[in-house]
Amino acid sequence: MTAGQPTVLVVEDEPAQREVLGYNLEAEGFRVAKAENGEEALLLVDEEQPDIIVLDWMLPNVSGIEVCRQLKTRSDTRNVPIIMLSARSEEVDRVRGLETGADDYVIKPYSVVELMARVRAQLRRARPAAAGLRLEFEDIVLDAETHRVTRDGQEIKLGPTEFRLLSTLMEKPGRVWSREQLLDRVWGRDIYVDTRTVDVHVGRLRKSLTATGGTDPLRTVRGAGYALG
Ligand code: CA
Repeated sequence: MTAGQPTVLVVEDEPAQREVLGYNLEAEGFRVAKAENGEEALLLVDEEQPDIIVLDWMLPNVSGIEVCRQLKTRSDTRNVPIIMLSARSEEVDRVRGLETGADDYVIKPYSVVELMARVRAQLRRARPAAAGLRLEFEDIVLDAETHRVTRDGQEIKLGPTEFRLLSTLMEKPGRVWSREQLLDRVWGRDIYVDTRTVDVHVGRLRKSLTATGGTDPLRTVRGAGYALG
């Protein structure tokens, strides 16, 4: 069961570097997917839906720059942070890397400690609940580190699925999530669950959130899915 655990896609053609990166990211608690070239990276992005991508610039055939450019023009992948790795140190290349839409840029040889810090920083921005932060929406407070939820100061008890559901919704208030997207994010892609299960758990979450007398913060969007606020 890997739902809720952030996935990092490592794209690096040099096997030793790929393994070291994967090892260190797993030690940090991430789920790691690895690609050794640009084509494989693009396939794995669809299969694994990574939360962040560490992307080598110099790859055979489809370069890292091209992978980055493609992902940043697709509406479904545009918001996935990309950290580019490159042996190039010229300022002009750095600028070019950022112009393709990369969110950060690290020059080889890099310090693993520094790279991990940058991965965490990008993740805090893109997936605050997965990074263990405290999220707030109106009078609802979710502490991803202690797994506690309060509403208007009163503790709300949630099951593990409802907790993951609420953290997902609280990361992007106002965003409408389809049932399929919630299944992927909350239950994980490896598990077969019927989309009606989403409705059941949204119902339970609603009940818990309104138990202390507050209004229902969840919105059902007909034909589309659910949103918070
Ligand atoms: Ca390379």
